[in-house]
Amino acid sequence: SSKYITQLPPDPLFGLKARYVEDPRTDKIDLGIGAYRDNNGKPWILPSVRLAENLLQNSKDYNHEYLPISGLKQFTQAAAKVILGDDSKAIKEDRLVSIQSLSGTGALHVVSRFLKDFYKSDADPESLPTIYLSQPTWANHIQIFNFSGLKTAAYPYWDNATKSLDLDGFLKAIKDAPTGSVFLLHATAHNPTGLDPKPEQWKKILRAIDDNGHLPLFDSAYQGFSSGSLSKDSWAVREAVDGDYKFPILICQSFAKNVGMYGERVGAVHLILPEHDEALNKAAFSQLSKIIRAEISNPPSYGAKIVSLILNTPELKKQWEQDLITMSTRIGQMRLKLRDELVKLGTPGTWCLFGWFW
Ligand code: PMP
Repeated sequence: SSKYITQLPPDPLFGLKARYVEDPRTDKIDLGIGAYRDNNGKPWILPSVRLAENLLQNSKDYNHEYLPISGLKQFTQAAAKVILGDDSKAIKEDRLVSIQSLSGTGALHVVSRFLKDFYKSDADPESLPTIYLSQPTWANHIQIFNFSGLKTAAYPYWDNATKSLDLDGFLKAIKDAPTGSVFLLHATAHNPTGLDPKPEQWKKILRAIDDNGHLPLFDSAYQGFSSGSLSKDSWAVREAVDGDYKFPILICQSFAKNVGMYGERVGAVHLILPEHDEALNKAAFSQLSKIIRAEISNPPSYGAKIVSLILNTPELKKQWEQDLITMSTRIGQMRLKLRDELVKLGTPGTWCLFGWFW
């Protein structure tokens, strides 16, 4: 019956975007959806992406065939190295399971289903884990996990009084959460606050997650955007993977922002097992593949081929790293300008700057 289909209000962010497009004023500025713009306020196709597109389209095997269910292996393997580092112990010790996803959102969605089905305690296999999200967080996080039937809870993060990280509150929430909870961590460029823990704070957070028997789930949507450096922006992930911890780790990796291919939906899920276990590795891969098969059959190929070419061709990789510096530098400059203007206008509030750019 139609009475069950009630009309919802537009999505806050995409609704704002639609209103922006319709607004006839010429002096409007779009501060909504987080997509990079060049000095003319236009979307920017990265030079590395242009080069890769030319290479791909001129290659003799250029086609639009289906990818395998788990995606393009050259892409997922290279993507893992981007986030974990070329010399990651997890790769060397064969503790990594990777699969391609529909960008970061699709990665989170696959992971939510995987956690629901397989992150169980032997004591109570019926119970479902709670996903702890920072307060505040990207609004879609709550919706994605609820959609899979998982409950979310908030952990303290932003302390409005001091305009800094509420580390004590964060650590207390980790301690108080039921064993076997999941803590979603923004790998870098926390959305929406822009405030990331410092290395010493990350170590305390990860230690507490491990000591209390929880699982860290990294959402990496902005690697390269904070500092311009891929390794600096994956510091927390690499500490979790290479440090002395016992937990398994999940990573949801998006290439929407850092290659500027928002609409092509390029992403990956990485599961890092605490120790080498070939049978478990294969089992996890098969179950992740089954989720992909049921949801989307196989992931989109075009963007994955472009990113794979960038990551696997040394000159293109070098160009991409330059592109990341171009974008992160401009973002930093814009933030400084905005802050200076707010101060100049005598806007109420304390207009401090934290971190380097964020
Ligand atoms: N996580 C965070 C924190 C984000 O800000 C975003 C994009 N706004 C995403 C994930 C997912 O982005 P996408 O699906 O476009 O990769």
